[in-house]
Amino acid sequence: MSRGILFVLSGPSGVGKGTVRSALFERDNHKLIYSISATTRLPRAGEVDGVDYFFKTRDEFEAMINNSEFIEYAEFVGNYYGTPKKYVEDQLAAGQDVILEIEVQGAAQVHKMFTDAVFIFLAPPSLKELRKRLEGRGTEEDDVIAGRLETAIREIILMSEYDYAVINDDVQTAVDKIQTIIQAEHYRVKYI
Ligand code: 5GP
Repeated sequence: MSRGILFVLSGPSGVGKGTVRSALFERDNHKLIYSISATTRLPRAGEVDGVDYFFKTRDEFEAMINNSEFIEYAEFVGNYYGTPKKYVEDQLAAGQDVILEIEVQGAAQVHKMFTDAVFIFLAPPSLKELRKRLEGRGTEEDDVIAGRLETAIREIILMSEYDYAVINDDVQTAVDKIQTIIQAEHYRVKYI
């Protein structure tokens, strides 16, 4: 059985990675598995442990780091976020495609370990639009939004390291493009 393909969807916070990922799974995506991350961030209203994230204390998360339980982890605006290793490796070995939806520092770590993973950068139509989306979410304080925007500017520069870039000006169009990328990767002959 051939190994599954690891897809990494990344890009600045507020660009709509979560929305695009949910919309992708609302289409027929039984062949694609989403890896649920662990985080020390507190749950937002409506978020469920084990569905949106595995919510951990800092001590629990640091114990997982010390036990090498993550493929990658990053500290992002004061909280840890990480991808549990065993689940992803088991699924890939079983021939399942897996998608990670993670921030840019974490994607850079995955890039070093999984050289054959497929990296998709989700970009905002503009910084003005990104600010509007972060503010519109209404879940973060002003200083957190400012921090996320500053990080976003640094991250957009890294887009050229990715295999694909998709501008998220319309969610369904972005999903169409991501599905096209996923399909095309299954016909790939040559790895650079
Ligand atoms: P939020 O707090 O808005 O849910 O997520 C903040 C950022 O962390 C988002 O950019 C999200 O994609 C990213 N993120 C979620 N899970 C992970 C993970 O496992 N690893 C890394 N590096 N980033 C993650």
